[in-house]
Amino acid sequence: MEDQYPCGICGLHYLSKELAERCHAWCALHDSCNLEVARQSVEAKLRAKGAHSAAK
Ligand SMILES: [Zn+2]
Repeated sequence: MEDQYPCGICGLHYLSKELAERCHAWCALHDSCNLEVARQSVEAKLRAKGAHSAAK
């Protein structure tokens, strides 16, 4: 299992600490997610896969 780094504000998870910190910094300043960062989240990647197979 890969390590995942959560953003404590929006709850998205990232595979790199740097991305999680970028998301956290953005979320702390703005009240919404930075799409450029959020699309690299584990959730966004799972959703992209989910379009292919219905398995969770
Ligand atoms: Zn965030």
